[in-house]
Amino acid sequence: MRLLGKKQPVYCVVCKRELKHKYKPREEWKMDGYLCSDCHIEKTREFALKEKEPDVCAICKSDLGDVAVKPRWQWNMEPGTLLCQSCFNNKDADFNKKLEFCAVCNKKMGFIRYNPKPAWKINGQLCRSCWDQRNAVK
Ligand SMILES: [Zn+2]
Ligand SMILES: [Zn+2]
Ligand SMILES: [Zn+2]
Repeated sequence: MRLLGKKQPVYCVVCKRELKHKYKPREEWKMDGYLCSDCHIEKTREFALKEKEPDVCAICKSDLGDVAVKPRWQWNMEPGTLLCQSCFNNKDADFNKKLEFCAVCNKKMGFIRYNPKPAWKINGQLCRSCWDQRNAVK
């Protein structure tokens, strides 16, 4: 029922509302027709959420499929970071090494290790004698 001289009304393909302002759906949404601004915003949000989900390893960037592993919280990685199994293992070994050996003299430490003071800018932990040495320096 087309009226002469008047444009055919266009309806939002999602909510079927008549459109005053047409919004083109994005290509990746795989939709035909036009959206109202509300539905457009809604869709944009929906896809933004989907895109956020990381499906590649944060270290080697390989595709994770369904073997994604969460990093340990001690590693201080971004929330939501996922790793592949081999990067997880490497990181784990690396981390344990840092925990086991003095960051300064590389001596294997026992149960007692010391956290460096922030001002020392040392990544890792120290053995007793290295810590004392550092601490004595003013
Ligand atoms: Zn709509
Ligand atoms: Zn990886
Ligand atoms: Zn040491």
